Amino acid sequence: MTLAHRLAEVTERAAAAAALSGRSIDDLTIIPVTKFHPPSLIRELHSLGVRDFAENRHQEARQKAADLADLDGLRWNFVGQLQGKKARQVRGYARTIHSIDRQSLVDALASETVTTSIFLQVNLTDDPDRGGVRPDDIESLAVHALAAPGIRLLGLMAVAPLDEDPRGAFARVRELSDKLRLVAPDAVAISTGMSGDFEAAIAEGTTHLRIGTAITGNRPEPG
Ligand SMILES: *Cc1c(COP(=O)(O)O)cnc(C)c1O
Repeated sequence: MTLAHRLAEVTERAAAAAALSGRSIDDLTIIPVTKFHPPSLIRELHSLGVRDFAENRHQEARQKAADLADLDGLRWNFVGQLQGKKARQVRGYARTIHSIDRQSLVDALASETVTTSIFLQVNLTDDPDRGGVRPDDIESLAVHALAAPGIRLLGLMAVAPLDEDPRGAFARVRELSDKLRLVAPDAVAISTGMSGDFEAAIAEGTTHLRIGTAITGNRPEPG
């Protein structure tokens, strides 16, 4: 199958899942995750009309953003774990960062001149190494983000745990999103759904899908 076929198939499946929940594909942003793939793949997706892209490693993302600076209207999303000292560099090319999970990252990105859109990443497991803020700490992190200049809080991001039914995990994210909105009424977005579970995410209210292999095909070995 070609890239164009896979993109069309994912879009059709997403539209069908949205319709089942009384939602519209227009309410969903499909963000291809292009990590490990060469810039040529991003060029090809761009020629098919895609503008939103996600990467999870800073060095690689920065290099691709530079290589592809000639393309119109690219919107880079950063979805990987982030070191505090790299946060400002990521903002140099990415307008949206999905993996904010602590106050120090908010502080590093706070700015009187540049706006960064963020998702708070929530950890749905008991393993602190998985990245993400604990559910109980979302509210205080949100309050901190709302007070920071130049930070636009979009909503919550999560990765479904491997050992849990994704629909149940995404239902928990939806509840956490409802709670978040009590303190941050504009933070209505939800970034969940990957190649293996995006239909479940759509059923539970996701707005931003981060889809890798189902669109790109298998990833090459990391370079
Ligand atoms: C790689 C990655 C994805 C996409 O994963 P696929 O299973 O290939 O769709 C989504 N989110 C994050 C944070 C990733 O690192």
